[in-house]
Amino acid sequence: MEVSNKVAVIKNHIEDTPKESHFELKTENLSLSLVPGSDDVIVKNLYISIDPYQINRMKSHSSSQKAIYFAAPITPNQAIDGVAIGKVVASGSPRFQKDDVVVGVFTWAEYSLVKEASIINKLDHSEFPLTYHLGILGFNGLSAYAGFFELCKPKKGEKVFVSAASGSVGSLAAQYAKLFGCYVVGCAGSQKKVELLKHKLGLDDAFNYREETDLKSALKRYFPEGIDIYFDNVGGDMLEAAVDNMNAFGRVAVCGVMSEYTDPGKRAAPDMLNVVYKRLNIRGFLAADFLNIFPDFVSCTSDHLRSGKLQNLEDISSGLDTIPSAFIGLFHGDNIGKKIVKVAEQ
Ligand code: NAP
Repeated sequence: MEVSNKVAVIKNHIEDTPKESHFELKTENLSLSLVPGSDDVIVKNLYISIDPYQINRMKSHSSSQKAIYFAAPITPNQAIDGVAIGKVVASGSPRFQKDDVVVGVFTWAEYSLVKEASIINKLDHSEFPLTYHLGILGFNGLSAYAGFFELCKPKKGEKVFVSAASGSVGSLAAQYAKLFGCYVVGCAGSQKKVELLKHKLGLDDAFNYREETDLKSALKRYFPEGIDIYFDNVGGDMLEAAVDNMNAFGRVAVCGVMSEYTDPGKRAAPDMLNVVYKRLNIRGFLAADFLNIFPDFVSCTSDHLRSGKLQNLEDISSGLDTIPSAFIGLFHGDNIGKKIVKVAEQ
């Protein structure tokens, strides 16, 4: 039996801000019969995770592309792989049966033909909604948890600043910091997001960075006693301003550099004398480095979810056709929380 399979691809490499015209939705035929003896699995995708790092894979060249296997370049007109949740429709692997619900690295398509090794986990008995496994209980949650606790080694009462604080990783990093007992200020790109940070997530304060003409003085206003920990999602000018306002022995967890992904001419140049004399620890990291703490992270986060102390922010659009706008929207601040595309009903 064959199905018609819609697949989202890029037409060419993308060197700056992504646009609808960079994408195409192709329709292909896919056989649902597997080659006898293969361990392939065919998955019908239910939810696809939309992540900013994919932009660096879509470029003709990026320093990230050779760093680790999942940052490998994406070839125009070929299927784009990314984390997704789907239902098994055919399996040559004894580990997976038809109708198993699985999370793994599939493709931006209605159906994905994958090797069994692409499947990370079965989610048949998930206590929480499936989508949580793409965000709060998945790699984004792990990024926030590992970046804050493992890199920043927080102490209660410390002053924490989080950028892109209404996004998927940022909203969690900010809440972990608050739950731990820190003083937390977040920034985001609209007044609506600022209200959400203060009133729904309970941060001590928040501001709209787009309304600030001088980021260094803005941070001085919000942190008159200086910043101990900066959880950086954006890089660029905000990193420079944060370094200027850090206290001695401050820690900066560099999770991502949103403001630099679509602007090849923009690279943060923090005052290195500050880095030396304040003895700052500025460290980049990947969630994949912290798979050893995944069980602790899931256990702690699940407890917070059960007790209602942690708010999960999700932003879900429906239909594979919404993939281009969902992805593009990340670079314009359209999303609040984890961006996901729902491809099919459970
Ligand atoms: P997200 O924060 O949910 O979405 C991206 C947000 O970035 C947007 O909503 C927007 O919010 C902000 N933004 C967009 N363009 C910007 C610009 N030019 N300057 C400042 N802010 C901008 O995305 P996410 O998935 O949680 O990822 C957040 C960061 O973490 C990204 O840098 C990502 O690459 C990184 N990340 C790293 C790891 C890791 O393992 N190290 C894992 C996952 C994600 P505003 O309205 O606030 O502008």
